[in-house]
Amino acid sequence: MDRLYLLKLGELTLKGENRDSFEARLKRDLKRRLEGLVHRIDMRNGRFFLKVEEAGAAQAEFALEHLPGIAGWALARALPKDMGAIITASLEMASLGPIAEGKKSFKAEARRADKSFPLNSQEICIEVGHQVLEANPGLRVDVHNPDFTINIEIRERAYIYVGESKASRGLPAGSSGKGMLLLSGGIDSPVAGYLMGLRGLFLDAVHFHAYPYTSKEAQEKVERLAAIVARWTGSIRLHIVPFTEAQMRIKEVARENETTLLMRAAMMEVADRLAKDNGCACLITGESLGQVASQTMESMRFTGSTTDLPVFRPLVGQDKEYTMGIARRIGSYRVSIEPFEDCCVLFSPKHPLLRPSLQIEREAYRALELGPILEKAIAQTERKRIYPLPMEGL
Ligand code: ATP
Ligand code: MG
Repeated sequence: MDRLYLLKLGELTLKGENRDSFEARLKRDLKRRLEGLVHRIDMRNGRFFLKVEEAGAAQAEFALEHLPGIAGWALARALPKDMGAIITASLEMASLGPIAEGKKSFKAEARRADKSFPLNSQEICIEVGHQVLEANPGLRVDVHNPDFTINIEIRERAYIYVGESKASRGLPAGSSGKGMLLLSGGIDSPVAGYLMGLRGLFLDAVHFHAYPYTSKEAQEKVERLAAIVARWTGSIRLHIVPFTEAQMRIKEVARENETTLLMRAAMMEVADRLAKDNGCACLITGESLGQVASQTMESMRFTGSTTDLPVFRPLVGQDKEYTMGIARRIGSYRVSIEPFEDCCVLFSPKHPLLRPSLQIEREAYRALELGPILEKAIAQTERKRIYPLPMEGL
């Protein structure tokens, strides 16, 4: 038997004129995720229906869980538009699922898109509710806070589903364009990439390493983090930039308390170049206001001054607990906490500047004369396409 999933569009329902192109994008993305699986996607009246062969259920559900642009999905049954059939299916689906799990209260919810159906939505609910109660005397109806809901939709056929799984929400992959994620091996930047991915961005990522001060393992860890984020965004092109020479120059020339700031500014400059060369129209970082000295307003004003692209910092207003919560949920946390050194190891000033002056730091940055060094770093950048970590990969 085939499985039928009903997909609920989230924010997409708010899109006026662009809705068709958003839906087309969503469909393309879903198709790509179901490659190799016999399936069919139908779009009718603002609903997506996905049919897959039974053996493909796990792959399909994995795809739905990671698909940006849908708010939820449910396993559904399609029936003839007949109250007898609707009631039988409702009873069966409720008994197999929530009732077997010991759930006690429910409500029925109906939508009648086909107005020629003889009962209106309310009458359908009353009838289904009544029959379910009759068959299950231990249950009660709770319209405000039910343990489960039996949904009935009357369209070209009748669709029944009980319970619904939450999805990623947001906008379809790529509908906002492409961004360049500054990806360290830490906790924050993968989460930042994931969040912007859900705002409809495809991603490239740039990682700066300071080999031999940082290890090959650190780089491999970043690749795994990118592969986790790619589960939502689709494959990510990773630019791996050798940054040792730039850091050495900074260490030699700059005052100790400004080294981190200058390095961040240099990273932004390189990221800006790579972004523009690779069709990315924004930069993304995992910065959060006040988390460390280089993330105060004054610091971010300076470090962001080497790019004229918008810099998206989706975590700027969040605390670490919040970010860690997301990192655990998406599976990046375990990888992020592996103990390989980031490229900042070369310097961690004892008393970093908290409120740098833009003018003074810009002058200090110019004095570094990093131009040729950054050119060389860009020329020696290594590129890898990172594919989504497969279903069984975590
Ligand atoms: P994260 O957990 O993402 O590393 P963090 O809290 O450790 O963040 P910083 O190390 O100060 O903060 O880095 C701030 C941001 O700068 C990171 O979120 C990331 O976007 C970028 N960044 C830092 N180091 C690197 C690196 N080696 N390569 C690429 N981007 C980096
Ligand atoms: Mg870090």
